[in-house]
Amino acid sequence: MAVTRKMRRGWCQICAGVSVLAMMIAAHGVALANPEVTAIRFGEGENSTRIVVETSEPVEFQAFTMAEPGPRLVMELPEALWAVASLATGEGAGRGHVSNFRFISGAGGRSRLVFNLTGPSQVSQTLNLEPGESGNYRQVIDIATAEASVFQASSSEFPASTSIDQLVAERAHARYDAGQCGQIRVVIDAGHGGRDPGAAASHGGHHESQVNLAAALALRDILLATGRYEVVMTRDSDVFIELEDRIRIAQDADADLFISLHADAVASGSSARGATVYTLADRAVNRARNRALDHSDGFLSNGYAQPVQDLLLDMSLREKRNQSLVFAQDLIGRVGGMAPVLDQRPRQANFYVLLDSQVPAVLFEMGFLTNRDDAHNLNNARFRQRLMATVAESIDHHFERCHSPNNPTYTATLNRASAAQ
Ligand SMILES: [Zn+2]
Repeated sequence: MAVTRKMRRGWCQICAGVSVLAMMIAAHGVALANPEVTAIRFGEGENSTRIVVETSEPVEFQAFTMAEPGPRLVMELPEALWAVASLATGEGAGRGHVSNFRFISGAGGRSRLVFNLTGPSQVSQTLNLEPGESGNYRQVIDIATAEASVFQASSSEFPASTSIDQLVAERAHARYDAGQCGQIRVVIDAGHGGRDPGAAASHGGHHESQVNLAAALALRDILLATGRYEVVMTRDSDVFIELEDRIRIAQDADADLFISLHADAVASGSSARGATVYTLADRAVNRARNRALDHSDGFLSNGYAQPVQDLLLDMSLREKRNQSLVFAQDLIGRVGGMAPVLDQRPRQANFYVLLDSQVPAVLFEMGFLTNRDDAHNLNNARFRQRLMATVAESIDHHFERCHSPNNPTYTATLNRASAAQ
């Protein structure tokens, strides 16, 4: 059951933290120029909150609020090392105006601290203070309650596309710390099958369920060959599987990623071609919530009170959708490098197989069987092999941190694999 392993991961963060800290100390020995973030403290005033970020060196920083995707304060600083021993994952709870925060050791020579806010707030002052008793430099940000209109006006505005990129970058760095990875399980779902052939064959090829299965088997073999994944198939032959059963298979497998493979079709006359990656749509969230309650998904079967269930479900769905989007964004980018894509960005949809509340999930439409060139490609084993190798690259990238030789779980898995050979 999914929640069991997720909880185990949580308990394990403490021991994992020790090795992460050791890595940070090792890294610090090499790159002394990077300041270390050594402590985060909060002070509460009547309508204000003081955030103190302690660093080993003096740092220039910027602080600004953002309204989307939720009120937050962002502190941008030079590339820094996280060295708060008691919060090895880089995440912690806030106080006052701050509900929680996380550290992102970002790319491009910048690091970020993101403070999620309890409501509209504005920065009233920022200070750099000389070392105090701790011997560390202190960066101070004071924030105060603000009218919603003032907050909106003073918050940085990003076009929708940028905020998705930013979300992607933040999540990619915040998740999958080496210590949090167990054995990674990928569920591959070949769409349709049996009495449901999917899109009809055209241009002399196979119908959709056959194309999907051939691609799914190719992806399975590529992933297994890496030695990094357990792969679970919703089907590995021409059989019909109910949509709800496909979700169940992913849940029972305690999957880390679910990828459903399909091929598109349009009415004749359209020249549409190219691949599309879908994640669960905003408008489908209620449907997903109802599905989880109807089917007593994992953590909902423990007799929690309704408000607790709602909270757990919201948190789980938010995390699942974030992770799905991170993966989808990377996948469509890579696919676009080797084949036509219909859209450079992930699209949102209300597909049933994406409704599960926990497992990050995407639906990959590999191309249009109604398009002569796409159909030719998808019926070609060598093209499918290249396309699935690209999907595997994206999966590798998504779980990159889990593949670090410093991840004890991964090393143990490798040892087991080599002992078995
Ligand atoms: Zn389909």
